[in-house]
Amino acid sequence: MLFFKGTPTKKEMKDTRRTVIAGNWKMNKTPSEAKALVAAIAEKAAGKDACDVVLCVPYVDIPAAVEAAKGTNVKIGAENVHFKESGAYTGEISAQMLVECGVSHVIVGHSERRQYFGETNETVNLRAKAGLAAGLKVIICVGEVLEERQSGITAEIVSMQTKLALAGIEDLSNVIIAYEPVWAIGTGLTATPEQADEVCGIIRGVVAGLYDEKTAEALTIQYGGSMNDKNAAELLAKVNVDGGLIGGASLKADAFGAIIDAAQ
Ligand code: PEP
Repeated sequence: MLFFKGTPTKKEMKDTRRTVIAGNWKMNKTPSEAKALVAAIAEKAAGKDACDVVLCVPYVDIPAAVEAAKGTNVKIGAENVHFKESGAYTGEISAQMLVECGVSHVIVGHSERRQYFGETNETVNLRAKAGLAAGLKVIICVGEVLEERQSGITAEIVSMQTKLALAGIEDLSNVIIAYEPVWAIGTGLTATPEQADEVCGIIRGVVAGLYDEKTAEALTIQYGGSMNDKNAAELLAKVNVDGGLIGGASLKADAFGAIIDAAQ
């Protein structure tokens, strides 16, 4: 820890970076449902400024969500972005389109995109660069599948994904990394706080090696994978876990509100 004089306390280490509680709604909620849920979550988030609160919503929900979030401390994100500025890419959305709609964050490399829609480490990197070039904050997801964890290669997989996702990105001030073990996403299986802390720490070490200690200490690294109102406090208390990327529990205002509370 070159960045600190002496041995830093846990609080000092966590104070170097922002906690971010982000919801990933996946393919859920119509625009009218989105409007109501953003309003309900904004009520829960009011005055809770120890963390950033972000809701990443389906593209068609973005205008309603942005409108409902106006004047609150909830920010609206998208669930993906294409890497080209425009062109013949049917079904895709550019970073500039998102910016013009009032989006501040975007997820790239979610395991469901990698698993079902052919995302590769290369396209994740290109999408991340496109989001950053447009001024978006980019949440880059990495994580091992069950067989990789069982084979003892979690560190190698996650380190490789992190390196490839960050290739050619010089400034990490708008980058967030989400460690999402694939076996824990939507399964109800959560990594233990120790497992989450260990892998988030490995990612931080990779970033320190690629950049420097100060950059690594300032980087927000979230945990994602069945985080909920019951387990959030323990996960978020870990020194390397700077927030959560939350799927299922972000669709319920009470549960998501409790996770925001746990981050205070
Ligand atoms: C996710 O979608 O990124 C996620 C972590 O989902 P869940 O919280 O439902 O496991």
